[in-house]
Amino acid sequence: MLDGKGNIGEMPPPQPALTVLITGCSSGIGRATASEMASRGHRVFATARRRVAVADLAAKGMRTLALDVTDPESVAAAVAEVLREARHVDALVNNAGYGQYGAVEDVSAAEWRAQFDVNVFGAIAMIQAILPAMREDGRGTIVNVSSVAGKIPIPFAAPYCSSKHALEAISDSLRLEVAPFGIRVVIIEPGPIGTKFGERARTGVAKLLGRPGPYAAFYRGAERAMDTDFAAGRLPPEAVAKVIADAIESPRPKTRYPLTRMAKTFIPLKRFSTDRMLDRQMARSLGLPKGPAAGRKG
Ligand code: NAP
Repeated sequence: MLDGKGNIGEMPPPQPALTVLITGCSSGIGRATASEMASRGHRVFATARRRVAVADLAAKGMRTLALDVTDPESVAAAVAEVLREARHVDALVNNAGYGQYGAVEDVSAAEWRAQFDVNVFGAIAMIQAILPAMREDGRGTIVNVSSVAGKIPIPFAAPYCSSKHALEAISDSLRLEVAPFGIRVVIIEPGPIGTKFGERARTGVAKLLGRPGPYAAFYRGAERAMDTDFAAGRLPPEAVAKVIADAIESPRPKTRYPLTRMAKTFIPLKRFSTDRMLDRQMARSLGLPKGPAAGRKG
């Protein structure tokens, strides 16, 4: 292998094949991560709610399983099958998730619960199912796919943002709990990524977007921002997959990986701004009407 000066150097030691279990591989980041890990020679268990949605990954040599993270029986069966076949899981990638948008007042209790069922309780169920085996083996990596929304709450996205804030807190607590057992916890914080996420989020709030009501003007602003600001600096899911794969392979991964310009700009900005400064910035960029009286009659 040539080093930077054109000299022949030592080859890096070959990376031993790792066994990786990934949730939500039917599309986007999960699918790209499965492909990236498989292309690096690792053993991939790619899961999706509908196994047919990952049939093409099976054709590429990955092991596929049906797994709905909100169904305890499905979680238990899938993890048991992986452990039966592989005996050890080196990495769990908690990727399954979606974005429930809408004003706090407008999102129904059932929609709020469904959001937490997938993004929070689904991840917890997977962690609880895999930890006994990882502890016993004294090694493992848990990768939780959070979001820039796990650090910065956005108006009209409270269900999604609060679910990712919860995932961040769970990850930070868990990291210290499991470190003594040789288990690492890594948080991925992407900004906008070109997947089905946006389209699915929009479908989830379609009934609110054109509706007259106290938040109609806000929704219009938020929708415009989704189309412009959100799209700016968007990365493909393969970029996230590479970071996840590098973190899993790393002997000393970082605790968190912000990704995209948006995440790298706004996460540090939040640390050095007051709430009022951030509110003003957020209102400006979302085109929200100003002032406490906005939305009131008269
Ligand atoms: P995506 O293309 O919509 O993929 C989401 C995946 O989650 C799909 O495979 C979906 O499966 C799966 N899923 C949803 N509910 C599930 C459940 N109950 N059980 C198992 N799987 C379930 O979107 P993505 O962008 O790749 O999202 C992946 C993760 O990245 C999510 O956690 C998301 O919050 C996070 N993220 C995305 C972005 C972005 O801009 N795209 C930014 C930051 C963070 P089905 O096909 O069965 O629904």
